[in-house]
Amino acid sequence: MIYLDNAATTYPKPLQVIKSMDLAMRKYNANPGRGGYKMSIDTSEEVFKCREKISKLFNASNPENVVFTLNCTSSLNIVLKGILNKGDHVVVSCLEHNAVMRPLQSLTQMGIDYSVAKVYPKDNDATLDSFRKSLNERTKLIVCMHVSNVWGIRLPIERISAMARQYNIRVVVDAAQSAGIFNIDLKDSNIDYLCLAGHKGLYGPMGTGIIIIKNANDIRPIIEGGTGSNSISMEQPNIMPDKFESGTLNITGIIGLGAAIDFINSKGINNIARHEYNLVSRLYEALSNMDHIELYMPKPDLNYFAPLISFNVKKLDSENVARFLSNNGIAVRAGLHCAPSAHKFCGTLDRGAVRVCPSVFTKYSEIEFLISLLKNKRLHNL
Ligand code: PMP
Repeated sequence: MIYLDNAATTYPKPLQVIKSMDLAMRKYNANPGRGGYKMSIDTSEEVFKCREKISKLFNASNPENVVFTLNCTSSLNIVLKGILNKGDHVVVSCLEHNAVMRPLQSLTQMGIDYSVAKVYPKDNDATLDSFRKSLNERTKLIVCMHVSNVWGIRLPIERISAMARQYNIRVVVDAAQSAGIFNIDLKDSNIDYLCLAGHKGLYGPMGTGIIIIKNANDIRPIIEGGTGSNSISMEQPNIMPDKFESGTLNITGIIGLGAAIDFINSKGINNIARHEYNLVSRLYEALSNMDHIELYMPKPDLNYFAPLISFNVKKLDSENVARFLSNNGIAVRAGLHCAPSAHKFCGTLDRGAVRVCPSVFTKYSEIEFLISLLKNKRLHNL
């Protein structure tokens, strides 16, 4: 199988991730922070090492501000439901994933409302302006993706968060699609809550997510329970990361994620990105010469787009194209990619689009094979 669905989750995972998880289940299989025996202490240390690696990668102020979750969806739910109160207003981009839109929609039942800021691909001034114009005196949060999982559009989160600071508004960034591709520096930006998936561009296992919380004081935990700390108290501890990490953690996954961070550091994020841009550039050039292919965005370049391409074959439903590719050994994702707003943006709500997203492991020959299939006469007769 040629796997080009890396925006959903990366595959294959690096060998060192697989090996570290095998070792974790043999050697670090105790509840960290709960027992005074050696395996529990060793497990705590391994988990802390992973926090440190993540903290360093994103230049966070303290490894204790790194909270482990199940996935980026749980990170976003924890932040949105932990901060917002009746009467609060939120601004989101018009491209957000359902991981943001569904929690927000359910919060409207509690008297929270939101506005949608339009995004202008390649025009960051206009995008910033539309965020500014969407604010009102009740705006508490801006929730914004860094990269669209459908169109690859890169949003100017540094400028948006700097603008928010002027109005004392908190910023949540959904970096599910950008972590591991673009550098994100928390010291250098005004991002208050960075929500991440461990299993996409960070190359960790599924079932890993992260929130990096700058200031934990004004966010309530939505899940409370045993943390191994201050057990005598019926109150959830206020210390980080315990405040947001009740119950047994996914230790095997977290240790795998630590090995994955070592992997991307050894490759270099910029080198990974360069490889992927080269692949999508070749694909974009080939597709733009095919009359039957509809492209919706300009050629992906580093400043404005992530290395992924979504397209349609004229007249065909995206699911049919994906099935044709799957029958020929290529895995891509069609449909709406859990982001109907992004499809509405390009007028593709009715048939979705075919998304191609390479990884550091994707070979040029695999992209050439995809191109040859898309030229194939049989595709036109579907
Ligand atoms: N936000 C974006 C932009 C995404 O692409 C995704 C995954 N498709 C998510 C959030 C949710 O991530 P997870 O699957 O880790 O919950």
